[in-house]
Amino acid sequence: MIRIDSVTKRYPDGTMAVDRLSLEIPDRSITVLVGPSGCGKTTTLRMINRMVEPSEGTILLDGVDIQKQPVTTLRRSMGYVIQNAGLFQHRTIIDNIATVPRLLGWSKDRARRRAAELMERVGLDSALARRYPYQLSGGQQQRVGVARALAADPPVLLMDEPFSAVDPVVRKGLQDELLRLQAELGKTIVFVTHDIDEAIKLGTMVAVMRTGGHLAQFAPPAELLSAPADSFVEDFLGTDRGIRRLSFFPAARLELQTAPVVAVDASAEQIAARRTADVPHVLVTDLDGRPLGWSRPQDLTAGTIATERLLPYGRPFVPDTDSLRAALDCAVLSPTGWAVGVDGTGRVVGVVSQQVIGEAIRSAHAAAPTAAKVAG
Ligand code: ADP
Repeated sequence: MIRIDSVTKRYPDGTMAVDRLSLEIPDRSITVLVGPSGCGKTTTLRMINRMVEPSEGTILLDGVDIQKQPVTTLRRSMGYVIQNAGLFQHRTIIDNIATVPRLLGWSKDRARRRAAELMERVGLDSALARRYPYQLSGGQQQRVGVARALAADPPVLLMDEPFSAVDPVVRKGLQDELLRLQAELGKTIVFVTHDIDEAIKLGTMVAVMRTGGHLAQFAPPAELLSAPADSFVEDFLGTDRGIRRLSFFPAARLELQTAPVVAVDASAEQIAARRTADVPHVLVTDLDGRPLGWSRPQDLTAGTIATERLLPYGRPFVPDTDSLRAALDCAVLSPTGWAVGVDGTGRVVGVVSQQVIGEAIRSAHAAAPTAAKVAG
């Protein structure tokens, strides 16, 4: 949908902000521009809605040169979200969100109805509608910024460091919310950040830029992690890219065992079977199948399993939705080295050893990752 074709931006003082950049930004997905401060990300984003005009090169939207379109028409097709939300301080939340529909000539009622609908969409309580921006937290203001950008339902959303000013917990919530919204709305999003973890989490495609406005690599996140184009990209990705790459492999491929699991009311025969099964530890569950803790098989006694003496089972993982990274983390945190797999309701579906996870990791690294990210 958006094609950046050999675009250069030289500012009047001679600064080369962007140097012959070419990018094909795919439709209905999130493309992230990431790189160190001053590498030309914001300049690139602003050239897409013509807040900055390129010195050379062309940008095509749906095959049409954006220079050949009236700026107002172009901007109407592009929502714009910035850091600190950039809200109108003298307008209520609902009227901030209704801004663009009002500009487009919608009646006040219709624009407010649309704004109320969007507040719900982005997870804002309707009680906030009549407040002013200063009466909202940073995270809430950022949600208002997103709702405002979506108000006229533009096909394109440009987002410039939208979540950089909020604390890490709120930021994670906003990122999750954006992914959820995007799954519903399917916008073409161009997202600028200097945070590589944010880029990897949100991007379908990630463009890593380096100072001088050069493109270092343009690839899906899993490919960046497995095959960084050069040492600049490798350094920018940081030290634990092997571990992070495991987020792209589903834990569903792990073979779980049920032999080392017993219920707290296990019979003497069931316990005897665990003893002969040659497993170092047995996971004890409650009568509903929820994990209680680990025991050595020889310490189990039928009818009187002392739950207070069990070793903690750590944090379980959900094989159906989590990644190999989540499974590995559970095994590393488990005092027995075994990870506990549960279903969506918290009932044990099986257990898996660090060794088996290690084998799955080795075969995963040899294979191509799934294109889609796994939740955990
Ligand atoms: P980023 O978003 O990656 O931090 P920018 O696109 O904001 O980078 O800036 C790229 C380069 O262009 C920087 O060196 C910056 O100082 C310079 N720059 C940005 N805007 C202007 C301007 N209006 N005039 C001159 N130089 C600018």
